[in-house]
Amino acid sequence: MILLDTPVENLSRIGKTVASRLKRLGVFNTFDLIHYFPFRYDDFSNLKNIADLKPGDITTVRGKIELLTNKRSPRKKMVITECFLTDETGSIKAIWFRQPYIAKTLKNGDEVYFSGKVMGDLFSLTFQNPSYEKVATETTHTARLVPIYPLTSGLTQKQLRFLTKQSMAIIDKIEDILPASFKTKYQLSDLTTALKTIHFPENKAEIETATRRLKFNELLGFHLQNYLLKKDAESSVAKALKFKEEETKKIVSNLGFILTGAQKKSAWQILQDMEKTKPMNRLLEGDVGSGKTVVAALAIASATLNKKQTALLAPTEILASQHFKTLQELLKPINCTIGLFTKNKHFTYNTADKKTSKLTKAKLAKLIDAAEINLVVGTHAMLEEKIDFKNLELVIIDEQHRFGVEQRKALREKSGDSKTTPHLLSMTATPIPRTLALTIYGDLNLSIIDELPPGRKKPITKLIEPLQRDKAYEFILEKINEGRQAFVICPLIEESDKLGVKSATEEYNKLSEKIFPQLKIGLLHGRLKPKEKEEVMNKFTEGEINILVATSLIEVGVNVPNASVMVIESAERFGLSQLHQFRGRVNRAGFQAYCLLFSDSNTKKSVDRLKTLVNCFDGFKLAEEDLKLRGSGSFTGTAQSGFLAQFRMATFADAKLIAETKEALEELIKDNPEVIDKFNIKTNIHPE
Ligand code: ADP
Ligand code: MG
Repeated sequence: MILLDTPVENLSRIGKTVASRLKRLGVFNTFDLIHYFPFRYDDFSNLKNIADLKPGDITTVRGKIELLTNKRSPRKKMVITECFLTDETGSIKAIWFRQPYIAKTLKNGDEVYFSGKVMGDLFSLTFQNPSYEKVATETTHTARLVPIYPLTSGLTQKQLRFLTKQSMAIIDKIEDILPASFKTKYQLSDLTTALKTIHFPENKAEIETATRRLKFNELLGFHLQNYLLKKDAESSVAKALKFKEEETKKIVSNLGFILTGAQKKSAWQILQDMEKTKPMNRLLEGDVGSGKTVVAALAIASATLNKKQTALLAPTEILASQHFKTLQELLKPINCTIGLFTKNKHFTYNTADKKTSKLTKAKLAKLIDAAEINLVVGTHAMLEEKIDFKNLELVIIDEQHRFGVEQRKALREKSGDSKTTPHLLSMTATPIPRTLALTIYGDLNLSIIDELPPGRKKPITKLIEPLQRDKAYEFILEKINEGRQAFVICPLIEESDKLGVKSATEEYNKLSEKIFPQLKIGLLHGRLKPKEKEEVMNKFTEGEINILVATSLIEVGVNVPNASVMVIESAERFGLSQLHQFRGRVNRAGFQAYCLLFSDSNTKKSVDRLKTLVNCFDGFKLAEEDLKLRGSGSFTGTAQSGFLAQFRMATFADAKLIAETKEALEELIKDNPEVIDKFNIKTNIHPE
């Protein structure tokens, strides 16, 4: 018999490999499976005849593949895959750009479904980049609406559907904690029904109702977590950490640059918070490259000088290692022992004797517990491993949206002193539009670094026409010959390629074999081992690699000042905020930075949107713009960026629902305080 906490490996017909792939998606047990939602549905209920297709139709057809070929575009740079799809009524051409593997996946004679938009005029219609699925021999597809899940490589839709079906057997075990009157008032369907429907809907209207219920749940849970944190903070006390003026001045004068006004103001707000016996709960918002790390260093110094420990949590090992190095430099003027704690790395560094030591995990944990380490920089491994602090009084979370509330809470609970709660500083480079921030965080204190260090020139941003690609490559080469480096960011072409392996690998092959055979090109994607990632990253930081091809999901916030060119492929797939963040990565030293955008879409809407970026360098404005556009579904960024990444259902377009659910929660817990303990919310924490 299966239960909600039955591990996925115990489900029928699932091996170790599939189980480990599911884990990569954050699916560990049946409960997770039930909460792993489709991102769209293929509608096979109104399959169209090919003869009836009209330009502009967004639809699915079924037919047989013929005349499948790969060819090169006239300028030989781009692989174009073409084929004809034929049914009893006619045939239509399909074209894919830069996806040569399609010719390996499909073959002539295959029966397939194509879904997508029909382009062209009445005389010559094509499907451009349609999604496709082979017609299965079994009857899994006879459902009219077929759920399509985000996948990881090595896992198929069919496998996931099969497993999800199994988990439906115990869906009744999920308790709906919302009282009936509440559900009536807010027009919410039953939780079990909603969960069933979201996976296996009968019709589209049903999906909407289910989605509302699930979004509502998710947002209620989110507000509840914030509410609990807030209450917890109100009723708890923190150690007052005295501001040490003299030593702080030493750190500031050692920087080698002058703090910006915004940095000073933010640092001052933070240091003042830390002097109070009420735990700080502050969000430091600042564009990429605005210098948040220095501000964090001043807070760390203050804790260290008060003989208290600090934990700095980073979302990836690369970022943690980078902070470990940077802080060695920033904290030089005071005596500080810094530890690095990730899954694979356990080091210490002391600013007095400048010695780095490699330790075992256990030894490092012991030193932390004995308060021999002042600052521990680490990843979520810090939370998963049994490490305890002796007097943790400051917690800093970098890229806070990549961590769930539970994780923040877990870290605070490692404090070591049961009577005090550590001060909490969260940092983010994704500006949350102010209006939304207020609804979401209420009275969370906000510090904003709204100016970049002086001397930074605005990155010159260009939307490159397909025909200018060669010119763009010449330009990149020129910059590299001047001694600079470049990033090339590849999006996730398909949901099934969650880690971006495919698109990045292809780009890497193209650049290293055809375009820049004379240069050193590196490749970074989610499937590399931590060691390999680190090696590539180190080589890039050291300048041994000229161009780094990387996927979009990993490594937010890396600092390689010598890199001055950012190339983004299929830029139309990203939100403006996210593009702006990429661009910020190459704007870190005095060099003129360049951001070259390539787009696969030439619709006016898409071009206009990308052009916003050419003249606008205000992260807040761009976030507002995304907010406006997200609702209209005009771009299809596969991963939500920013704090919304933690949601599976809600998006920026749900600003209204975010506000509505906040009020609803207040009402709910006033009338039914017992629900607080029953909430079980899955948030969407990105796996590294
Ligand atoms: P982020 O806010 O993205 O975390 P960092 O803290 O990594 O930014 O800072 C980006 C770069 O800017 C670093 O190389 C840092 O040394 C430099 N920097 C920070 N503050 C200043 C400043 N006031 N003047 C000049 N350079 C600065
Ligand atoms: Mg940073």
